[in-house]
Amino acid sequence: MDPRTGTPVVGMVGGGQLARMTHQAAIPLGQSLRVLSVSDSDPAALVARDVVLGHHTDLDALRAFARGCDVLTFDHEHVPTEHLHALVADGVKVHPGPDALVHAQDKLVMRRKLADLGLPVPPFAEVTRLDDVTAFGAKFGWPCVLKAARGGYDGRGVWMLNTPESAQRVVPELLEAGTPLLVEQCVPLRREFAALVARSPFGQGAAWPLVQTVQKDGICVEVLAPAPEVHLELAESAQELALRVADELGVVGVLAVELFDTDAGILVNELAMRPHNSGHWTMDGSLTSQFEQHLRAVLDYPLGATDPVAPAVVMANVLGAPTVPEMGVDERLHHLFARYPDAHVHLYGKAERPGRKVGHVNVLGERMEQAREKARLAAHWLSHAVWLDGHQIH
Ligand code: ADP
Repeated sequence: MDPRTGTPVVGMVGGGQLARMTHQAAIPLGQSLRVLSVSDSDPAALVARDVVLGHHTDLDALRAFARGCDVLTFDHEHVPTEHLHALVADGVKVHPGPDALVHAQDKLVMRRKLADLGLPVPPFAEVTRLDDVTAFGAKFGWPCVLKAARGGYDGRGVWMLNTPESAQRVVPELLEAGTPLLVEQCVPLRREFAALVARSPFGQGAAWPLVQTVQKDGICVEVLAPAPEVHLELAESAQELALRVADELGVVGVLAVELFDTDAGILVNELAMRPHNSGHWTMDGSLTSQFEQHLRAVLDYPLGATDPVAPAVVMANVLGAPTVPEMGVDERLHHLFARYPDAHVHLYGKAERPGRKVGHVNVLGERMEQAREKARLAAHWLSHAVWLDGHQIH
């Protein structure tokens, strides 16, 4: 409890953009997020006052950080599971707890658990030797998808193996380096969805509308809310699936369930137990943003309404251009706001590097295609200082 404000202190491990935007949501709740950050120039460290510098793999740093926090939560999945158990044994309130979070940390643990629950997942197998991959490919066909069970993100840690020879080139080296691996069938996916929900310790659940996520080179570039041209039944069953996963795993906080849409129905790809890129649209497009909802959930407040506030909401990520444009960010914003006064810009205060997520733009509209075009143009302009449609600046 912060004696100055009488409000609880939430400590978030990790100082990335998710912590930055959670801090933003903490302010109207009378709070100020406490952040454990690796560097004082991380996105959240630039804006929050209560920043502790330390590493999330250092148990002593985690213990010191947790002192004085009412609850501990996360901006990423990279805290070692054994450290989380140690904190719980110390009496720290950790949300989501380690028994839930391990399913977002380890893809093999997650696949096994969901399969045990009878939930739809792609065929998969653990890989401890090259033979595991070649036998899997022989059974399910090539290409197959090899994944690092832990530590991957934004497509890093995912390898498409087209032939047994490509497996031979990749697998032994990874095994030698000690990377825990699994192999999956390469699913013929029509598109990708995300079902975002939140769950409180009390057991209350809330679901946002199902969204479509658009990936490029393994990175999410756009989110369309609600997912266009989806049968109501399918959207509802995806939301129910996500709420069930949250319940079965005992998740506290926001849970994102990434889904593949296939001819045979939806399959779960992966889980994230924190605010997620697929929920950034909620900052401007829903009655309650995912960041506020995450705080409400970890503090066991009643959850907020998840209704969208416009018929179509599009989020486009601002991804660093191959070369940083000469025109500075400040001037790019001038031109952006001149052209699109209704675009909601969220920049993370990160240095621009090729392909790096440095911000996002939300656009609300009556029609999905128009909102999508505007969001796409705005995000590309912000990173490249080029209007994709040839628009001239004055
Ligand atoms: P990360 O944890 O790095 O986000 P994912 O497991 O989500 O990795 O995979 C990244 C992307 O690779 C997915 O969004 C999807 O486009 C593609 N992908 C992953 N697994 C499969 C699969 N089994 N079949 C087809 N495509 C896949």
